[in-house]
Amino acid sequence: MSDQVLEQKLEFIRIGKLLFDRGLATGAAGNMSMILADNTVVATPTGSSLGSLELDKLSILDFKGNLLSGSKPTKEFKFHLALYQNNDKLKATIHLHSTYATALSCLQDLDQNNCIKPFTPYLVMRMGQIPLVPYFKPGSDHITEHLSRLAKDHNAFLLANHGPIACGKSINDALNNIEEFEATCKLYFILQGNKIRYLTDEEIKELRS
Ligand SMILES: [Zn+2]
Repeated sequence: MSDQVLEQKLEFIRIGKLLFDRGLATGAAGNMSMILADNTVVATPTGSSLGSLELDKLSILDFKGNLLSGSKPTKEFKFHLALYQNNDKLKATIHLHSTYATALSCLQDLDQNNCIKPFTPYLVMRMGQIPLVPYFKPGSDHITEHLSRLAKDHNAFLLANHGPIACGKSINDALNNIEEFEATCKLYFILQGNKIRYLTDEEIKELRS
């Protein structure tokens, strides 16, 4: 293992622990993956807690999903792979069952094309529109099919009645995206019962340009 790959794996473990310590990942929920410098993919093992990932047990896979070393990957790894296969700008993926984004995913009548209408600039700047993937059993191939189709134009997604996914150019970028996603969902619920001033189409356009 090169020094660079070792450093990347240690950073991956550090970010898992950070998500756990911040209460964004609980129990064995949530999973992560990233593309390594040697063009393999590291993923969290099935049933593992993001708070206590171990270097020797990290799942190392090729782009066909074959396990090269370590433990069996998360059952949700197939959708991670589909994201990388359909958008080469995506280099890392974090999927959580974090409280506020998951609460949002349980609401009826969300806009399928953009599940959270913008009311702060940061979500728009980092993630643009966040599409909703309809509910399917966790690990279902239908989730993978939907994400394969959406990956080209998006870097974040919400799985209905399940939780958020955010990707990034690096694992740190994916972390920043999923934290922004969660924080915005929290604001959304805090604001319930109040009249929200949503950003106007003009303001959104300005942020995207
Ligand atoms: Zn999940």
